[in-house]
Amino acid sequence: MIELQNLKKSFKGKEVIKGINLSIDKGEVVTLIGRSGSGKTTLLRMINALEIPTEGFVSVNGETYTADNKKSQIKVRKQSGMVFQSYNLFPHKTAIENVMEGLITVKKLSKQKAYEDALQLLNKVGLESVKDQRPHALSGGQQQRVAIARALAMNPKVMLFDEPTSALDPELVNDVLQVIKELANEGMTMVIVTHEMRFAQEVSDRMIFINDGLIGEEGTPEELFNHPKTDALKKFLNVIE
Ligand code: ATP
Repeated sequence: MIELQNLKKSFKGKEVIKGINLSIDKGEVVTLIGRSGSGKTTLLRMINALEIPTEGFVSVNGETYTADNKKSQIKVRKQSGMVFQSYNLFPHKTAIENVMEGLITVKKLSKQKAYEDALQLLNKVGLESVKDQRPHALSGGQQQRVAIARALAMNPKVMLFDEPTSALDPELVNDVLQVIKELANEGMTMVIVTHEMRFAQEVSDRMIFINDGLIGEEGTPEELFNHPKTDALKKFLNVIE
C-alpha cells in the first residue's frame, strides 16, 4: 500500500531523512517512534506530499509523485487522510459542518447526502450528540475526533496521524486513542507518529524506531520493547520509561 525507496530530505542543506526504505502492507498499522527531531514528522509528511523529498520515491496505493508535478502530488495526497497534532477545524462551523465541508466541496455530494454521511461518521467517533456545537465549545479530545471524522469522510486508503494526542490533557487522550484502535480493528492502513508508548505497543503490527533520519530498528512491539538490539533504542526506551 505504501512504498518508500531511498527517501532523503534536506532542509537548507541539512539532511534530516538520510535514506529510508519502507514497505507497508494494506491493513498494517505502523507506528513511528524516536527522539524529538529524529525525523518522524518529516517522514510522515512525505507520504502525502506535504513535504517533497530531496531524493527517492514514494508510492501510495499505486500512485507516485515527482517534485515538479503538482498534479501528481495532489493525486497521492488524496490517497491518505491526515490528522495533525492541532485539529485545524473551521472555527465558525459546527462539528457536523466541519465534516460535511469536504463531502460537499471535494466529493460534490448534495447537502442532504453530505449531512447523512457526516452524521454517520460523527456517530462512529462517538460525537453525534455534539454535532451542532462549534469547535470552541468542544474539548480538545472531541475536536480531534471531529478531525478524524473529517479525514475519514474522504474515504482515504491510508490514515496518517502526527502525534494526535500530544496537545490533549491526559484525561482526554484515551477517547482519541480508542477511535484509532477501532480503525485498526476495521483493517485501516495507518501510520502513526506517537510518543504514547503503551498505545503504540497495543495498536501496532510493526513499530519503527527512527534514529537520526534512518530506520534504527523495526519489528513487532514485543521485539522492540523486550529485545532492543541497538544502544540507541535501549537508550530511548530507558529515557521514556
Ligand atoms: P518531534 O518528535 O519533536 O516532533 P520529529 O522526529 O517529528 O520530532 P521532525 O519534525 O521530522 O522530527 O524534524 C526533523 C528535523 O528537521 C529537525 O531538526 C527539524 O528542526 C527539522 N525540520 C523539520 N521541518 C523543517 C522545516 N520546514 N524547515 C527547516 N527544518 C525543518
